[in-house]
Amino acid sequence: MENMQKLIAQYPLVEDLVALKETTWFNPRTTSLAEGLPYVGLTAQDVKAANDRLTRFAPYLANAFPETAATGGIIESDVVAIPAMQRRLEEEFRQKISGEILLKKDSHLPVSGSIKARGGIYEVLTHAERLALEAGLLSTEDDYSVLLSPEFKQFFSQYSIAVGSTGNLGLSIGIMSACIGFKVTVHMSADARAWKKTKLRSHGVTVVEYEEDYGVAVEQGRKAAESDPNCFFIDDENSRTLFLGYAVAGQRLKAQFAQQGRAVDAEHPLFVYLPCGVGGGPGGVAFGLKLAFGDNVHCFFAEPTHSPCMLLGIYTGLHDALSVQDIGIDNLTAADGLAVGRASGFVGRAMERLLDGLYTLDDQTMYNMLGWLAQAENIRLEPSALAGMAGPLRICASTAYQQMHRLSTKQLSNATHLVWATGGGMVPEEEMAQYLAKGR
Ligand SMILES: *Cc1c(COP(=O)(O)O)cnc(C)c1O
Repeated sequence: MENMQKLIAQYPLVEDLVALKETTWFNPRTTSLAEGLPYVGLTAQDVKAANDRLTRFAPYLANAFPETAATGGIIESDVVAIPAMQRRLEEEFRQKISGEILLKKDSHLPVSGSIKARGGIYEVLTHAERLALEAGLLSTEDDYSVLLSPEFKQFFSQYSIAVGSTGNLGLSIGIMSACIGFKVTVHMSADARAWKKTKLRSHGVTVVEYEEDYGVAVEQGRKAAESDPNCFFIDDENSRTLFLGYAVAGQRLKAQFAQQGRAVDAEHPLFVYLPCGVGGGPGGVAFGLKLAFGDNVHCFFAEPTHSPCMLLGIYTGLHDALSVQDIGIDNLTAADGLAVGRASGFVGRAMERLLDGLYTLDDQTMYNMLGWLAQAENIRLEPSALAGMAGPLRICASTAYQQMHRLSTKQLSNATHLVWATGGGMVPEEEMAQYLAKGR
C-alpha cells in the first residue's frame, strides 16, 4: 500500500492504469535511431543473417506448406487500404483521421495465421539448421528441400522442443516443429482457446494445460525442458532469435511499399501500431522497421487495459521487475494474445529509446472495432489484433505529440498509419460468430 503510494507519486500515470482507464503515454525519452541502436545489442547484419536463413529454408517451406508455394516459400502478408473502416472510425469517434490507414494482414500469414508465423517458425528453423549443420548432415549451400526426407525426420525425432504460450506462439512452434520431425510440447496458459489446443493435438503436439496465466506456463515449460539435454526451450521472454525472426518484416515492408509506390520520408511519415503481449513480436517488428525507415517511422505498442505490462515496465523503467499483478491489475482480457502480466525485460530495455509511445484500450473497444472491420471491409480478426486500430485516433487527437515531434498539418495529412493486424486468420467460424456478437 505504502509502496503503491510512492510509485504513484513518482509515476502518476500508474493511477490511471490501476483504474483500468484507456491511457496513452508518449515517450519523452525517444531518441534518434543512431542514438538508440547501440542499446538494442543487435544490428542490421543480424537481421540480414535472419533473412538469409529464411531464404535458405524457402525451398523446404514451399514443399512442406503448399500454401507458401506461390511466394516461393517466403511467409509474408499483404498490406491493404481500409478506407471504409477509416470512415467508420471517424464517424464512431467523431474525429478526423489525417492521412491514410493501412492494414498489415499478419492475421492471414500462412502456416499459423498470426504474427507468430514470423518469430516462432524462424526460431524452430534456426535450431533445426544448427543441429543438422553440427551433425554434418547439411551444408548452407544445400537445397534445403532435403530436410523433407525420412532420414532428416528420423534425425530430428531424437530432439524435442518446449515452449510456453497463450496460444498463438504454441500454434506456430508446434506446427513447425512437428512438421520438421521434432517431438514438441506446448505449455498453454489458461487464456489459450480450446480450438488452438485441439488443432495442435491433431498435429501430434503434446499440449500441457495450466489453470494459471502465461508467466506460469512459461516457467513450467522452462523447468520441464531443463531436465532433458536434448530438449530445447524456446524462451519467449528473452529470445534474440525470435526477435530477429520478427525484425525481418522491416525490409519486407519497405519492398512492399516501394512496389505500391508509397513514399516514407520526412514529408511522408509512417506511424505503426503494434499489439503487445510479452513484447518480442512488436519489439522485433519495430526494430526491423526502424532499421528500414529510420526516424521517419514512429512505432507504438498497444495493450489491453487489463494487461498493460510493457507500458508499466517502460514508463517506470522497472521493466520485468514489476508485473501488472503487483499493482493490483488482474491480467484478464479477451485479447488472449496480449494476456501477459510481466513484460520481457530484454525487449523493454532494447526498445525503450526507439518507441514513440504506448497506449491501452478496453476489451469492449477491441470487440467494437472487430465488428466494424468485419462490416466495413469484410476482414475478420481476433480481438488482440484490433489493439492497433485505436492508434491513429490517439495520434491525430494529440497536439502534444505533434508538437513534440514538430509534425506539421501537411506532414500529418501525408501520413501512413499502419495497423498491424496480428492474428485471427484461423479462428473457427463459431468462435468468430461469438466475437462478432460482442461488438456494439
Ligand atoms: C503474441 C501476439 C501478439 C504480441 O506478441 P508478443 O511477442 O507476445 O508481444 C499480438 N497479437 C497476437 C494475436 C498475438 O498472438
